[in-house]
Amino acid sequence: MAEFGIPILADKYPVTMDMWPVEDQRFNRIYPFYENLKQGRFTTTRCTKCGFISWPPRVLCPECYALDEMEWVDLPMRGTVLTFSEEIRGVPLGFDSPLIHAWIDFGENAPITRFLSRIANCPAGTLNEGDEVKLVVFDIPPHPIEVKKDVVMSERVFFAFEPVNK
Ligand SMILES: [Zn+2]
Repeated sequence: MAEFGIPILADKYPVTMDMWPVEDQRFNRIYPFYENLKQGRFTTTRCTKCGFISWPPRVLCPECYALDEMEWVDLPMRGTVLTFSEEIRGVPLGFDSPLIHAWIDFGENAPITRFLSRIANCPAGTLNEGDEVKLVVFDIPPHPIEVKKDVVMSERVFFAFEPVNK
């Protein structure tokens, strides 16, 4: 368990301050996104009626309002940093410093050309515009869910991008 510096939250952090989604199929209709992440695929939804590609993934098309007419399409797993911000002090509880967010260029032929993401595994002061970054998938604390009066721990993952050459 990471040390978050607030003794009253020791060992309670994932329950009291959980900022991650519940990814289990029984509670989340875009659960295939997380299942794909676990397989190393970075995906989103494409509407089979009008072709609109959403980010984040959806069950309802924001363009034509078709419901449950989505297919999963792959997104690029590498891109180039267009611009970024780097927070050193005062990062939100549960995040390590530096907390870096970047606009990533996926290229003009990608389903989504620009993407805002957290940049992980990157020391402060080392990221530059134009750097190549790649997808990284990591475990986050499992979430307790109730299944027929039993509590089971649902394993979860999330993603960020990280520098390719660091
Ligand atoms: Zn549509």
